[in-house]
Amino acid sequence: MSALGDQIKLTLAKGGTITVERFMELALADPQYGYYMTRDPFGTEGDFTTAPEISQMFGELLGLWAAEVWTSMGRPNPVRVIELGPGRGTLMSDALRAARVVPEFRAALDVTLIETSPPLAQIQYDALLTAGAPIAWRGSFAEAPDGPAIILANEFLDALPVKQFERRGGQWRERVVRLNGAGELVFGVADKPEPFLNAEADEGSVIEVSAAAHRFMFELAARLAKQGGAALFLDYGHAVTGFGDTLQALRAHISVGPLTEPGECDLTAHVDFAAMARSARAAGAAVHGPIDQGDFLRALGVDVRARALGERSPERAGEIEAARRRLVGKGDNEMGALFKAMAVANRAVPAPPGFQPNPAKPA
Ligand code: SAH
Repeated sequence: MSALGDQIKLTLAKGGTITVERFMELALADPQYGYYMTRDPFGTEGDFTTAPEISQMFGELLGLWAAEVWTSMGRPNPVRVIELGPGRGTLMSDALRAARVVPEFRAALDVTLIETSPPLAQIQYDALLTAGAPIAWRGSFAEAPDGPAIILANEFLDALPVKQFERRGGQWRERVVRLNGAGELVFGVADKPEPFLNAEADEGSVIEVSAAAHRFMFELAARLAKQGGAALFLDYGHAVTGFGDTLQALRAHISVGPLTEPGECDLTAHVDFAAMARSARAAGAAVHGPIDQGDFLRALGVDVRARALGERSPERAGEIEAARRRLVGKGDNEMGALFKAMAVANRAVPAPPGFQPNPAKPA
């Protein structure tokens, strides 16, 4: 068991429980042992791979997306470009390079990276040293500078903790983590039912609610409604709210039990995009999508970009095509349909690129 696991067991030794939400928060963000706080988790050597780490095309297309959105916002100067949970800084590095084709945008932007993890902030700093743009780091979104903003977030929302509720005996009870007789961490449910949850469901059904994600989305949408701008979210998730336990842990690219080694493996939950859209609208912003990541990237021109890159470096053409297919393909091991894209914007901003109705495409 991991150091964090031992610590959690100690606190539960007298028969107590912690909620799944608290467990997830500790596993990812405990200042001493939290997964993101202690390591670089990405790439083939790490635990999982994200879209910007698969191909430079992903960040480049998002950089061009940002430049187009800036134009449709009336070219504010300055414009805040804010990235949430920037990982290794790869997305921002590729985006800033691609945005050079719109020099006025490059000249108007300043970048804020929102990152809680000290080791990842250091990796981002090194990756962006030569990016040629003013960049600042902040620990929370609330600390980002005011003003019209373009916000990018890839695989950020899925790292925010979720509450889980389980249907037992015709009532909903919050799922918790406790110790069993053998001293192992196991799932259980709270003694007291939840009086305010009354959705009908089969025995054993689970629903997930991320209070942290709702709070965050409300704050972000209210800011965009007041100060202008647009945000783009890409994440593993579903377009329609439903039942199901989506808590999942990955270690060295292999799925492991969520309770086995807290702090040593990545722990995520699928993003409920419909719920996020409700919060964003309630705070006064417009919502575009969600749509499949594959459709979004295709509308931005990933196929053309892949072909151009392949022609320029024929020796890498196979690798570039494989990366393109992994990003847009809709099969089981591909990201095109499992991942969704959703934009949240000030109501005055027109539908951003990728979310515009395509008259050539049959409904
Ligand atoms: N966007 C990157 C990394 C995704 S992993 C990519 O696509 O490769 C999640 C990232 O969010 C990590 O950088 C992690 O440290 C950061 N993170 C997790 N919780 C956070 C929070 N509450 N506030 C800010 N950053 C957070």
